[in-house]
Amino acid sequence: MNFTRSESDDGKKDGGAQRKPCIRCLLSESGDELYRTVREYISALPDEVKADGRVYVERLKICGGCDKLMRGTCVLCGCYVEARAAKSAQHCPAVPNKW
Ligand code: SF4
Repeated sequence: MNFTRSESDDGKKDGGAQRKPCIRCLLSESGDELYRTVREYISALPDEVKADGRVYVERLKICGGCDKLMRGTCVLCGCYVEARAAKSAQHCPAVPNKW
């Protein structure tokens, strides 16, 4: 697993080896190997199911700033947000929803 937006175990920014995984990152930001699987899932979606690219980016921008994002997963629904946001018919599970 790779790390981004990380801090060392003592909380200081550094380039050291003892870093914690990014808790509030999307899979694409964390370098998690699961991201490749999610990308493959998204690629296999029929075009009529996929969200528009701009919509997808905007959704992920919102998720990226949300306190319900935990290691690429929405804690409200358990979905990888990158997979959920990729489907046009999906919506954010928060009440009220954020996208
Ligand atoms: S609550 Fe909505 S905005 Fe927040 S992480 Fe889940 S899907 Fe994204």
